[in-house]
Amino acid sequence: MSCQDSFRRSVHYLRISVTDRCNERCLYCFPREFSGWREQEDLLSYEEILATVAVAVDLGFTDFRITGGEPLVRPGVPHLVREIVRTPGVRSVKLSSNGTRLAGLAVPLREAGLAGINISLDALDPKRYYEITGGHLAPVLEGIEAIRGLDFPSIKLNAVLLRHRNEDQIDPLLAFAAERQLILRFIELMPVTSREVLRPENFLPASEVRQKLESQDRLEPIEGSLGFGPARYFRMERRGVTVGFIGALSDLHFCEQCNKMRLTADGRLRPCLGNQMEVDLRPFLRPAIDREGLRAAFLDTLRRKPLEHSFRDYYEPERAMTALGG
Ligand code: SAM
Repeated sequence: MSCQDSFRRSVHYLRISVTDRCNERCLYCFPREFSGWREQEDLLSYEEILATVAVAVDLGFTDFRITGGEPLVRPGVPHLVREIVRTPGVRSVKLSSNGTRLAGLAVPLREAGLAGINISLDALDPKRYYEITGGHLAPVLEGIEAIRGLDFPSIKLNAVLLRHRNEDQIDPLLAFAAERQLILRFIELMPVTSREVLRPENFLPASEVRQKLESQDRLEPIEGSLGFGPARYFRMERRGVTVGFIGALSDLHFCEQCNKMRLTADGRLRPCLGNQMEVDLRPFLRPAIDREGLRAAFLDTLRRKPLEHSFRDYYEPERAMTALGG
């Protein structure tokens, strides 16, 4: 088996975007405006998503994440989680959310069998949070408190690094995470949705933040994986908090362990976030579900999964991160 074969065979993680809409308007994400839920023709139904999951599981996928846009603006996400959890062969179902609607949904999500939640939290100062996301911090903090009491096996906070905009929030975020014993991950800005945001004056390399923290504290590497993503994790000895760094641009080994593909909200399979290639699954889902066709499309996409993203090659995003299920 070639190393390319073994790379592709290790793919077992599918991120499922259930909507490209978001109730916040992050300056680095440019989501489509949300003004109340409306059914959209182009959006996969839950039945279509479940048919895709069944084929993925047959091909060895075991781990799933519901994302978006903001997944919790779509009604019925706990139902979708429950149905995926019930699919024989599924090991874990997790969710990424901006946290704004978590407080009201935490219990049904836990009861549905959700194994973990990643919450975007770019700042702890409400004004700064608003400047970055266009949203309000209070409901997010309420959401975090709601899930903390529910014994989720995994809760992580995600902060996208923005020079000058949230550099001064790193310390408060570390204190917040330490106090609650939550994992805090710093995500380097990526040229998804638009290159516009990725300007030198905005870009703060994850490696720079790591070096700065290393100058203040001992960062003990955590061996093994705390998830299925490309984050590198460390325990900050003095501060007593686990931090992760996701450096799509500054980490030259970023793609080596990549084990994921993405299902977009409109039914395309995308093998790499940083490469425009997508395979449309809708011809195998509509008007009727064609399992053999879906299986062949999955295998074809897997075979074509790039070994490395193209973010460093003047990559021009054609589609919004929110549609891709970032
Ligand atoms: N709305 C959900 C959330 O906030 O987690 C799910 C979708 S969001 C697109 C998924 C993750 O992508 C979030 O952690 C977000 O901060 C991150 N993200 C969005 N745009 C990004 C960019 N340009 N660079 C790096 N990360 C980005």
